[in-house]
Amino acid sequence: MKLLLHSCCAPCASASVEQLLDGGNTVELFYYMPSIFSLEEYEKRLDSLQILSKHFQIPLHAGRYEHEAWLSFIQGLETEKEGGARCFRCYEFLLRASQQKAQELGFNQFSTTLTISPYKNAEKIRTIGLQCNGFAFFDFKQNNGYRRSIELSKALGLYRQKFCACEFSK
Ligand code: SF4
Repeated sequence: MKLLLHSCCAPCASASVEQLLDGGNTVELFYYMPSIFSLEEYEKRLDSLQILSKHFQIPLHAGRYEHEAWLSFIQGLETEKEGGARCFRCYEFLLRASQQKAQELGFNQFSTTLTISPYKNAEKIRTIGLQCNGFAFFDFKQNNGYRRSIELSKALGLYRQKFCACEFSK
């Protein structure tokens, strides 16, 4: 399978990419996380993804930091708890943009690293993703994916943030 992998950050991408490459897939990274609070934080995560891209020797496409558009999309859900309705709307924003980017770059399929986090709802990601053409579902937290992401992050010196991304999670 040749796919574009939506990547929220380098630690989550690390073990996800490893699993996909081990499975014989061809992967390119798409960093797109406009939900991140502050451009500085967005760039810090981008720097670590560049390290990862070099390590695995796979291309990295960086999306725009469209935080205002993301805020408009989740408007009215700001005070929802993490893991609730705001996050589901956020998944939709990220996955729709990833579908569009995959089409633009000529990929028939795309997936996301979001499922590796134990704090994310993989079933909800599957449901929302399957509404997008070309979505391939992988639950990267299976087979100790999350633990492996911590090991790889330490080994490669990747920046591991202490909050999901948006100002509401911070
Ligand atoms: S906590 Fe994370 S998944 Fe939820 S809305 Fe904020 S950035 Fe999106």
